[in-house]
Amino acid sequence: MSDTPVSHPLALGPVAPPASTVDGFVQEFLNNLNFRQGVALSTSSDNDRYLALAETVRDYLMARWLEDQRRQHERQAKGVCYLSAEYLLGRQLDNNLLASGLNEIATEALASCGIDIDELRRLEVEPGLGNGGLGRLAACFVDSLATMSVPSIGYGIRYEFGIFRQTFVEGQQAEQPDQWLAMGSPWEFPHPEAAQTISFGGHTESYDDDGTQRTRWVPAWDVQAVPYNYMVPGYRNGRVNTLRLWSAEATNAFDLRTFNSGEYSEAVRAQTFASNISKVLYPEDSTPQGKELRLQQQYFFVAASIRDFLDRQLAEGFDLKNLPERVIFQLNDTHPVIAVPELMRVLVDERGLDWAEAWEITRQCFAYTCHTLLPEALEVWSVDLLGRLLPRHLEIIYRINEEFLLSVREQFGDDEMRIRNMSIIGEHPERSVRMAYLATVAGAKVNGVAELHSQLLRDKVLPDFAEFFPGKFTNVTNGVTPRRFLRLANPALSSLISDTIGSGWETDLDRLKELEPHAENPAFRAAFAEVKAHNKDRLRDELMLRDGLVVGEGHLLDVMVKRLHEYKRQMLQVLHIVTLYEGVQSGRVKASDITPRTFIFGAKAAPGYAMAKRIIHLINAVGSVVNNDPRVEGRLKVLFPPNYNVTLAERVIPAADLSEQISLAGKEASGTGNMKFALNGALTIGTDDGANVEIRELVGDDNFFLFGMTEPEVAALWAKGYRPSEFYQGNEDLRRAMDLIASGAFSGGDRSTFEPIVSNLLYDDRFMVLADYGSYLQAQRTVDAAYADQDAWTRSAILNVARCGFFSSDRSMRDYIERIWHTPPSL
Ligand SMILES: *Cc1c(COP(=O)(O)O)cnc(C)c1O
Repeated sequence: MSDTPVSHPLALGPVAPPASTVDGFVQEFLNNLNFRQGVALSTSSDNDRYLALAETVRDYLMARWLEDQRRQHERQAKGVCYLSAEYLLGRQLDNNLLASGLNEIATEALASCGIDIDELRRLEVEPGLGNGGLGRLAACFVDSLATMSVPSIGYGIRYEFGIFRQTFVEGQQAEQPDQWLAMGSPWEFPHPEAAQTISFGGHTESYDDDGTQRTRWVPAWDVQAVPYNYMVPGYRNGRVNTLRLWSAEATNAFDLRTFNSGEYSEAVRAQTFASNISKVLYPEDSTPQGKELRLQQQYFFVAASIRDFLDRQLAEGFDLKNLPERVIFQLNDTHPVIAVPELMRVLVDERGLDWAEAWEITRQCFAYTCHTLLPEALEVWSVDLLGRLLPRHLEIIYRINEEFLLSVREQFGDDEMRIRNMSIIGEHPERSVRMAYLATVAGAKVNGVAELHSQLLRDKVLPDFAEFFPGKFTNVTNGVTPRRFLRLANPALSSLISDTIGSGWETDLDRLKELEPHAENPAFRAAFAEVKAHNKDRLRDELMLRDGLVVGEGHLLDVMVKRLHEYKRQMLQVLHIVTLYEGVQSGRVKASDITPRTFIFGAKAAPGYAMAKRIIHLINAVGSVVNNDPRVEGRLKVLFPPNYNVTLAERVIPAADLSEQISLAGKEASGTGNMKFALNGALTIGTDDGANVEIRELVGDDNFFLFGMTEPEVAALWAKGYRPSEFYQGNEDLRRAMDLIASGAFSGGDRSTFEPIVSNLLYDDRFMVLADYGSYLQAQRTVDAAYADQDAWTRSAILNVARCGFFSSDRSMRDYIERIWHTPPSL
């Protein structure tokens, strides 16, 4: 801040937004094109125009943003810091035009410059800073927080390369780097002046501080964390929150001495090493690899975020004892859990609080969201690695654990088995820190992400902790933002809804209930069916343009889009397709008896997950045989557009008739894709898993195709001894489908290509695909029968939309506020 007295009248007030008129927009747009991009309209490229348009939208939001930052700082009300290693944001332009209410003005303004705004929309590369559901959830939450005017900051990592771009080479996944920053990034604001220095390695030493024994960390190396701010505009409420993503840079960008001594490569080496930390998103979803760089990323972003909050968001002279009245750090899964010992270290080592005081503060300032039920997804860090990278933090974790286990002994006596089971330090296969346990011990609350998941978390994953900390465990069922996944993704349905019940449902999604009586109105059903047909046309055009793929005319669109993982059971759907195909191919079934269907898959596999990649290969192989066999022409199509991302989701989901949510019961924590589909009027074929349970309760059994074992049935079958080969032997359709794959029919006669998939199912089948096959096929036949009555189907689809308002992420935020955050309603 400079001390120069402010004299100019314009400098005194808040900045004024540009005029919200077509002329005003044109003026601003041309200014940006000329003065920022440095080009004239006549010579500008589409990318210049896209950037200038984005900057113009930004300019309109700027006054609000600055005002909200000022207000949040001034009010010092309790707010939320959402800590997430991933934000799968999707495209920004559309969302920001919608939120600011500028869509029509911008469209008209650009048209008057001879520019079709839709062509510019297509140019935006979405920031893919997340893997799948978890990252998308964080993006939905920051949208809801802004829309609900909750004081909050999202903190994360600005990966230079987000989730890889997927292509197929001869049906197999190939990964390309995601160069989302290559063409310019108009939505971010770097703030190098607000950088934080983040340290690593070294050792600790104790010293005498006026008679008090203290510890200090003497790190070995450090990096700069540079914040990049992103606007998160609320939906037409004039609010703009902040998403702050950290980028790593070398501390001494260039060591001149080293350079002058002729060691050029040594000088840049340090720079390269440091910037590696935020270089790339780990593409593993549900299977963390325990890599050192990943722990560096985690510590890097949470340490920077905590420091940013303490140094820059708190009023000067703030008494840290009151921190719990000022902030709650929500931990999105275990990725940010190293924040717990970091806050302890800052409070004790740097701010001089005593341990007990610091712990009292810390245990009120964190809450933890668990996102999994898969044991292999529960993150652990080897003591060895953690101690090498963060020696002081390891000491702090040991002490937290020691005191925790002492209190366990106080309550339960010397039950050594229990002590071992609850220790934050696990001993097998190597000594390691169990991050979920650390989060559970430190968190004021621990939540699961759907009713069933929260129950299993208490009963099966962390039962000892649930017993020890009664009242700590709670549920917040996930949600999705209706702005992006209904209003933006499905303009036709949005118009129909607004025409029917008026506007305002976008921020009050329970109002969709008002649609329910209209399900009985034939004219409304016809209009709804027309919307679905329109969305299918849009998808047909998009897939043709994007990938040259042809959606079947008049087909039932059967869609399974999500990460490729064995627990999600894409193989069930593959077996269904192969069964239908085998029936016709062997002459036992007439093609004309099959309901015409186009199966659409979208899925990325973690690059190191061999089985998942093989399943992708199989889907493509089945597609290329089925799509080229004249015997099933006009009946079966299998499409697998590559690179499933938010942008593709927004096109596919509104067009779907059938939503495949077919994980093994007890494995999918919640799912959010399931909610997006139901809200867009697709019927679900699904197991009793995750949020499917709640969807079915809300929409009713008549409007949901349930199949498969329940979680207790799954547990009982495991207990009794599951032998998949018995299911293979006992079901002729299944046997024929498996045999056809094994015969090499989809691999040019080569039996070895898909043999690992077949034997995995026959002899291992961890996710009980074969056990649920019979039930699944039966449910699919029920789908066919239901689809034959189009009018009844449409009625069910309407009821899905009308009854799923609960799944707005606004409702999730209200639950967090009420059950966990206790943040006051803001102005
Ligand atoms: C919603 C979404 C997901 C999560 O889908 P699930 O079916 O819940 O696994 C993954 N990726 C993208 C791009 C999404 O939009």
